[in-house]
Amino acid sequence: MRAFYDVDQAAHDPQQYMRVGRLVSPKDVPERTAALLDALRRLSIDIEAPSGVDGSARVAVHTEGYLRFLASAWEQWTRLPDHGLEVWPNTFPYWSGRPEHRARPDCPANHIVAQAGWYLGDLSVPIGPHTWASVEASCNTAVAAADAVRHNATAAYALCRPPGHHARADRGSGFCYLNNTAVVAERLRIECERVAILDVDAHHGDGTQQIFYARPDVLTVSIHADPTRYYPFFTGYAAETGVGSGEGANLNLPLAHGSGGPVMDAAAEVACERIAGFDPQALVVALGFDAHARDPIGVLTLEASDFGHIGTRARSLRLPTVIVQEGGYAIDAIGDCLVAFLEGFGH
Ligand SMILES: [Zn+2]
Repeated sequence: MRAFYDVDQAAHDPQQYMRVGRLVSPKDVPERTAALLDALRRLSIDIEAPSGVDGSARVAVHTEGYLRFLASAWEQWTRLPDHGLEVWPNTFPYWSGRPEHRARPDCPANHIVAQAGWYLGDLSVPIGPHTWASVEASCNTAVAAADAVRHNATAAYALCRPPGHHARADRGSGFCYLNNTAVVAERLRIECERVAILDVDAHHGDGTQQIFYARPDVLTVSIHADPTRYYPFFTGYAAETGVGSGEGANLNLPLAHGSGGPVMDAAAEVACERIAGFDPQALVVALGFDAHARDPIGVLTLEASDFGHIGTRARSLRLPTVIVQEGGYAIDAIGDCLVAFLEGFGH
């Protein structure tokens, strides 16, 4: 197992997060990376820095206007008189959120407050002085892992922070700015005719779903907590199966809140059967640990060892595999979850 991480990813240090009408402490804190790096060391897995990665891979997934916004937002914000701590929106455009529309046109207004509302979908994605550097580094880490597998590694793990699966082609949300998982899938498509994504983060991978919703060549499968009462609320339902030529290439497996390891394992079995039937040449696992029982924003009840079973299921597909880190916010649990997953996978 090769593993990638860029030290610049730790610089993103969000200060604000709005939850049920209150400002609460951010959950995607730099300490997460320390816990995951420690898990890799426990398994004696070498940690490589991505090198020689350019920005072309993210251009294949995200719109130009959104990328321009991300790269320039902080600098524009600091020119505002009386600006706050971080780029944080206070006005939002009307948008249905339906996945049939892959992306909107660029923001029609050039004021940074308008752009923040257009390109940031909620109040969990502030942009501070180091956010873009970390986001870029996180995406480069994902690309380096994809390239390792493209160049014949059997499997590679990308320790991505910030995570990515809520990011749409043209919008950040849910702690996510660039969709690392989607960038990896698109990168693998250079050689592979079909790529499958298995997302086991506790939240629906709504950004990933939307990016590939009309595509027959990338199967998106997401196992997550029932969104009727859980973020991202507006998507993640079983009836969402794809659109146009992508019809049938999206599978959502929502789980009842309170579900534990056996329910997750049964869903993973269904997911893997669907993936095997799709006959892909490569697999991307969007690996979140917020299904853990102690997760501070979680509603599922997995133990660390349950992630080992998911790893074994993923390995049973016998495909070149890129594992992309998504969420997981219980700092004292996520290291054990990663160790269990990689041991189950047979690193
Ligand atoms: Zn999550």
